[in-house]
Amino acid sequence: RPTRDLLREAERALLRHRTEASAPWVAYNIRIHEETQQRIELRRELRRALDEDQFELHFQPKVDLATGMLVACEALLRWNHPERGRIPPGVFIPIAEQSQLITPIGDWVLRRACRHLRDWRDAGLEPVRVAVAVNVSLVQFQMGDFATRVRDILGEFGVAPQELALEITESVFERESDSLLNQMRELHDMGVRLSLDDFGTGYSSLLYLQRYPFDEIKIDQAFVLHLLDDPFSRHIVETVMMLARALDAEVVAEGIESAAVGEALLAMGCRFGQGFYYSKPLEAEAFRWLLEQRGSLPLTADAAR
Ligand code: C2E
Ligand code: MG
Ligand code: MG
Repeated sequence: RPTRDLLREAERALLRHRTEASAPWVAYNIRIHEETQQRIELRRELRRALDEDQFELHFQPKVDLATGMLVACEALLRWNHPERGRIPPGVFIPIAEQSQLITPIGDWVLRRACRHLRDWRDAGLEPVRVAVAVNVSLVQFQMGDFATRVRDILGEFGVAPQELALEITESVFERESDSLLNQMRELHDMGVRLSLDDFGTGYSSLLYLQRYPFDEIKIDQAFVLHLLDDPFSRHIVETVMMLARALDAEVVAEGIESAAVGEALLAMGCRFGQGFYYSKPLEAEAFRWLLEQRGSLPLTADAAR
C-alpha cells in the first residue's frame, strides 16, 4: 500500500491513543478507521443539527424521597437525527466536546432550559424549588467567560440564578486551574447551584472537593442500582452522605429504579433522588403536564389516565 495511507492510519491510531489511552500502545485496525469515519460524519452533522433545530430537551424529575413530590428537574439533551433517529448524548457529547461545538450547543441548552422555565413560571407552575439542572462540560469553561454567559442568558429570560443548577462531573478535578475555580466561585456567588455529577466514578480528591463550592453531590447510579444486593455499594453511599454532611452539601441519588431502593436511601438519610422508578426523562410537554398535576411520584395508574 502507498506509504501515504500507512502514515494516515498510523496517525489515526495515534490520535485514538491520545484520546483514550488504556495501554502504552495501540494497534491500527479497520474498526478504528470505521469509527473515525463515523465520528467525522457525526461531527459534520452536529454542526448542522444546531442550525436545523434537531436538538430537544427532555426533563427528568428530581423528587423528595419522603413524599415523592417533584422538587426540581434535570434537563437532558436529545438529538433527533433526520436519518439515524435519536442519538444518545453518550455518543454525541464527547464528539461535541472534542470539536468545541459543545460551546454553542451548551449555550443552546442553557437558553432552552431557561425558556422552558420562564414558560412554566408564566403559567403559574411553581412547585419546583431549584427549577432546572443543566449538564455542563468542562470545555465550556475554557474560554474563561462561562459565568458571564450564564449571567447574560439568565438575564435574557428573566430567570433568577437560584432557579438554575449546573451539573459538572468529577473530571473537574483533573483539570484543576485557577480560571476554572474562579468561574465556579463566580457562579456560586451569583446564586447558581453547583452540583457534582456522577460522584464516585472518576478521579476525586478530597482536598479539591473542599475547595470547590458544590451545593449538591449526585451519587452515581452504579452504586444506587446495586444498593440492595451489594454491601460495597451500600458502604459507598453511606460514605458519600457523611462526606456531603462535612461539606454541607445536599445529596441526590441517581438511578433509582425501584420503590425498595428509594426507601432504603431514605432510611439511610438521603432526601432527594431521581430515577426511572419515579419518572423517566420526559418531553417538555409531558413534563409540563406533570407540573400541572402537582401530585406525588410515581404516578399511579389513576393519575396517568
Ligand atoms: P447524567 O447527567 O448523569 O444523566 C443521567 C442519565 O441517567 C441520563 O441518561 C438519564 O436518562 C439516565 N437515568 C435516569 N434515571 C435512570 C435510572 O433509573 N436508571 C438508569 N439506568 N438510567 C437512568 P442520558 O439522558 O442518556 O444522558 C447521559 C449523559 O449525557 C448524562 O449523564 C450527561 O452526562 C450527558 N448529557 C446529557 N445532556 C447533556 C447536556 O445538555 N450537556 C452535556 N454537557 N452533557 C449532557
Ligand atoms: Mg447530570
Ligand atoms: Mg449522573
